[in-house]
Amino acid sequence: MDAMPARPFDPLAAVRSHAEPGFDLLLAGTVFQDIIFTGLPHGPEPGTEIWSDGMGSCPGGVANQAIAAARLGLRTGLAAAFGDDGYGDFNWKILSGQEHVDLSLSRRVPGWHSPVTVSLCVDQDRSLVTHGHSAPVTNSELIGDPPNTLAGIAEVGLEMEPWARAAHSAGVKLFGDVGWDPSGEWAPVRLDNLQYFYAFLPNQREAMAFTGKDNPWNALYALADRVPVAVVTLGAQGAMAVDSETGEEEWVPSLPVKAHDPTGAGDCFDAAFIVGTLAGWPLGDRLRFANLCASLAVQEVGGSLAAPGWGDIADWWK
Ligand code: ADP
Repeated sequence: MDAMPARPFDPLAAVRSHAEPGFDLLLAGTVFQDIIFTGLPHGPEPGTEIWSDGMGSCPGGVANQAIAAARLGLRTGLAAAFGDDGYGDFNWKILSGQEHVDLSLSRRVPGWHSPVTVSLCVDQDRSLVTHGHSAPVTNSELIGDPPNTLAGIAEVGLEMEPWARAAHSAGVKLFGDVGWDPSGEWAPVRLDNLQYFYAFLPNQREAMAFTGKDNPWNALYALADRVPVAVVTLGAQGAMAVDSETGEEEWVPSLPVKAHDPTGAGDCFDAAFIVGTLAGWPLGDRLRFANLCASLAVQEVGGSLAAPGWGDIADWWK
């Protein structure tokens, strides 16, 4: 991987001058337990056993974005549901301890088991096995102190609608992503919810399902009709975006890396894109930075815990 071109760099000055004390970023959602197996020769077949060359166990779901954002220096608050079990204990400890995520707005849900997602990584792609579901944490009071909250991120789903509406009316700059919904049943409702969002950052498969378009470019432009900033991530092909407010349109190719574990790549991308947005960077720099962070993350096994911090990025982004 070649070093990134040198550029002026003071990413957090804008953030710090706006919000002190308080959060730079508030996230809402559910913490899943991620269990990841990498380097599988193929997917599982009935009655056979396959061996993986690496394994990770880490906080997942909304925790992916929280860890990526906190490692990039954003003061990150998480309003999330945690299971009332060993996974909940483990994830709470990691997030509030070594990852410095503020959990004062989070809660343990009595008697509720953490939802679990198993990622099976074959070559550069993966399959998911999920058990459990999200728990609602969408009370508007979870927004905390809106004047100090610069940005929030949520899935653009039904359960997040009250949170998104309240955050939007409190002046929070909202970034959204979407959980995969193969049925497409919620698409009309979710499209309506985009009115609350400043930016929306699905991957290409989600973008096409969400908009009903048959290619990522058309999906991008359909989204750009509804949000000021539309981004579609393209996996190993990079990412593209339109900023309707400034008229900028950008596509950046991905970095040529060997991906071992793509778990949480999109979430890492989102967090880095928010850092660039809060720092006031042009769209192209925001995309390049997000692409860089996500491509560093996919090279390591470990899901959310593979997100880079500034020390990891310094050689590539000066
Ligand atoms: P999601 O993780 O939400 O499914 P993508 O698969 O589009 O989203 O990946 C998000 C970002 O992660 C991409 O835009 C790219 O920056 C990075 N990325 C993902 N896969 C690779 C890969 N194989 N090589 C390099 N970068 C990758």
